[in-house]
Amino acid sequence: MDLKLREEDLAFQREVREFIDRHWPEEVRKARRNVGRFEETKGEAPEVRRFIDALNERGWAVPNWPAEWGGTDWTPTEKYIWDKETARAECPQLSAFGARMLAPVLYTWGTAQQKERFLPLIREQKMIWCQGYSEPGAGSDLAALATRAVRDGDEFVVNGTKIWTTGAHVADWMFCLVRTGTEGKKQEGISFLLIDMTTPGITVNPIHLLGGIHSVNEVELADVRVPVANLVGEENKGWTYAKGLLTHERTGIAGVARSEVMLARMKDIARETGVDGGSLWDDAEFRRKVHALEIDLEALAMTELRVLSQVEQGGAPGPESSILKIRGTELSQALQTLQIDVFGYYGLAYPDQTLIDNEGPVGHPYGLTAMQAMLYGRASTIFGGSNEIQKNIISKAVLGL
Ligand SMILES: Cc1cc2nc3c(=O)[nH]c(=O)nc-3n(C[C@H](O)[C@H](O)[C@H](O)COP(=O)(O)OP(=O)(O)OC[C@H]3O[C@@H](n4cnc5c(N)ncnc54)[C@H](O)[C@@H]3O)c2cc1C
Repeated sequence: MDLKLREEDLAFQREVREFIDRHWPEEVRKARRNVGRFEETKGEAPEVRRFIDALNERGWAVPNWPAEWGGTDWTPTEKYIWDKETARAECPQLSAFGARMLAPVLYTWGTAQQKERFLPLIREQKMIWCQGYSEPGAGSDLAALATRAVRDGDEFVVNGTKIWTTGAHVADWMFCLVRTGTEGKKQEGISFLLIDMTTPGITVNPIHLLGGIHSVNEVELADVRVPVANLVGEENKGWTYAKGLLTHERTGIAGVARSEVMLARMKDIARETGVDGGSLWDDAEFRRKVHALEIDLEALAMTELRVLSQVEQGGAPGPESSILKIRGTELSQALQTLQIDVFGYYGLAYPDQTLIDNEGPVGHPYGLTAMQAMLYGRASTIFGGSNEIQKNIISKAVLGL
């Protein structure tokens, strides 16, 4: 694989950097360093809204979508450059539930009316989505889901409970797997429904995670009436669409570019951190850990490029996305632990514990959320399908065992 950038790619890189510097300048990056890392929001912060509007104006909000719906038709190298540059500058991203997960399902299997209604609002981040897949009795064994949707004229009547629903408390809509049939294999009676979160009968109960973060919820659905027009694809065929969505979700979870930025930052901070008359970077054991992570990340970046170039030829990522998910999450967890090492005592506190007499936080600004990030990061090997389940997928679908 030839990764040397050609002259036209370098020109594109300059164009991207100019765009980012204009719309997401250094002072905004600094000011936002510890804001809302774990919260799903509508991008209400004015600087985030401005950036998303600028992306839409420039036609760069959803590079991976088909051009017809706002995609960019970039080459894999251009997409790679875009991901690197936006990660480097810590640019806000569109909410993944709409832009990365639901949108490919809609533009592949949705009706013309569904595409026209939802895709522009997702692209402009004016409609926030959440994912109603898991249930108290259906996680790894997702096809065991029991939330029932029964047809009543032009509507489905939905009853059941979803759990671990990230961002349900801020979402406008939920894409939801429901049971519409009980005949045959359990995968065969599942349908994919779009549900307006303001519909009567929906109750969202918060679940607070270790680390004090409220991002997940339990969602109760009691006689929720959903128009049949909100069914995506065919009734009882939802499993196919649900699986397609998961491969996109897993590819996104790998987060290689973000991990590379984080590792580079840790190196810089270690050089500035005094230890025993020298710096933390002088510690050979610390450098060994960093270099081992660098090598693993480099290997993962190559795997990501291979998956991306397959996507370019075949349309959607295949079961290989499970490899990205496993390695990407293992590495990001290792990095989050390394962060705690780098920040020492200051890395152990929660953000509100670093305020002394309301004089502002102590320690390095990046250290403030290190503990929260480390604790929340434990979930990454569970969500999007646990890593054990990804290993099962690789053994069956990739290795043919
Ligand atoms: C922070 C967070 C956010 C989430 N957000 C969402 C969301 O927005 N929407 C949504 O629908 N879901 C969400 N989830 C749910 C997530 O997808 C499930 O937690 C996950 O699929 C695992 O299911 P479970 O929790 O029921 O665990 P279980 O399925 O009960 O698994 C328990 C353990 O057993 C292992 N295991 C189970 N079956 C097998 C097997 N066949 N072989 C080997 N090992 C196995 C698992 O790997 C795991 O370690 C979220 C979860 C978390 C933690």
